[in-house]
Amino acid sequence: MRGVAVRRMTSSIVSVDRRGLGRVGYAELTEDLRLLKEPETPLGAELASQIKARGPVTVHEYMRQCLLHPRHGYYARPGAERVIGKDGDFITAPEVSQLFGELVGVWLVSEWLSLGKPSPARVVEVGPGRGTLMADVLQATTSWPEFRQAVRVEMVEASPSLRTAQQLRLGARPLADRGRTWRLPDHDRFGTSVRWHESLRDLDDEPFPCLLVAQELLDAMPAHQFVKTPSGWREKLVDVDDTDDSAHHFRFVLAPSPTPASRALTLSSYLAAYDSSNCDDATIEVSPTALATVDDVARRVARHSGAALFVDYGKTTCLGDTLRAFKRHAQVMPLGDPGLVDLTVDADFAACAKQAALVDGARVYGPIDQGEWLGRMGIAHRLEALLNNDAITDTQVDHLITACERLCDPAQMGGRYKVLAIAHSKTHALGLEAPAGFRPDESVSPPPDPLSVISP
Ligand code: SAH
Repeated sequence: MRGVAVRRMTSSIVSVDRRGLGRVGYAELTEDLRLLKEPETPLGAELASQIKARGPVTVHEYMRQCLLHPRHGYYARPGAERVIGKDGDFITAPEVSQLFGELVGVWLVSEWLSLGKPSPARVVEVGPGRGTLMADVLQATTSWPEFRQAVRVEMVEASPSLRTAQQLRLGARPLADRGRTWRLPDHDRFGTSVRWHESLRDLDDEPFPCLLVAQELLDAMPAHQFVKTPSGWREKLVDVDDTDDSAHHFRFVLAPSPTPASRALTLSSYLAAYDSSNCDDATIEVSPTALATVDDVARRVARHSGAALFVDYGKTTCLGDTLRAFKRHAQVMPLGDPGLVDLTVDADFAACAKQAALVDGARVYGPIDQGEWLGRMGIAHRLEALLNNDAITDTQVDHLITACERLCDPAQMGGRYKVLAIAHSKTHALGLEAPAGFRPDESVSPPPDPLSVISP
């Protein structure tokens, strides 16, 4: 869970008590210590030379490189699977409890049933992290053999090291087609095949219904930040910081004149709600990558039928500076240790919902709170069933109850995380029914004007 700061941000200034040092005659050394910067990371060195040669980069570009730089990106580097979980930098719902993945499995089956049990169909996960959610989905859906026989699994993961971690987690082995298709281990009696793809664009546009889940993906997608100034919206950029005012090597600056992204923003319908309001110094965030992803998914659902579920922490406005960095469950400075800390922004669910609602043939539901959705999906019954198992120990009972509270409590993940669904408009015709866990009146109306997506 990355929504809550566990400890205060580390100070960006190195302060030195000069009195003691002065007494032993180390005045010159204290001056050197004042200049002490944190060690430069390999990605930091690369970014600094890029900025020195070409000028400051957008927050979007900084975040993109920090997370997915092919060698030094936070998710791309070897061992990246260790950053997720209680011993890593942040914890996510599937890592909190198997209950989460089980109910996502129930949701996928329920959508498949309401589509009329199509065969073949595809179960797609985008951004699967350590592969825990898919492992729990596959385990939970063994009780629906018809579903398991009908579906093929597609994993969309940008990080090569996380792709390997997911293959190990699922116990998958490659078939003799140059590693394109993998098979689950022999104890999986359904012979389910799994394929990995680097990006959603690589997922073939086969004419099969697509049941898709993306859990904590949107918050990992880079965003542009813009600040309202007396001369209009200006983009926030990242520049090098060679001064001795900060321990970090980078600092935020405002673009002195319009950038391509701020120009596109000024022309878009995004600003309509904010421009006239009295919000001086306001910051807004726009993630074209998140919007393009939701748009792509909605189009796939509309084209070949299916359903999609996005779960993330987020807001329902583009207002606010939500860029945060996490290391070992603590919030740290976003511009420190590039490539070694998790960078995240709140998903803008309102913009994502509108973007998807614009797609002809797609119907969007939510966002609703994760706790509400899990409650409607029957988490209490599932918990009860697990607790009634005679073999369960007291420690396991404690663990399950605490995990369930953490997932559902409005003051914890239950309120901070939201769930958004996209369904095919014919399967869930307005007013008749809605995807599992949603009510028909939670569907989103398309906005009157198309949002212009700033190209990623
Ligand atoms: N869903 C997992 C992991 C969340 S972390 C969980 O809840 O535990 C974000 C995940 O999204 C990582 O696996 C990261 O590598 C992946 N990711 C980030 N950007 C991506 C992109 N553009 N395409 C595919 N995967 C991406």
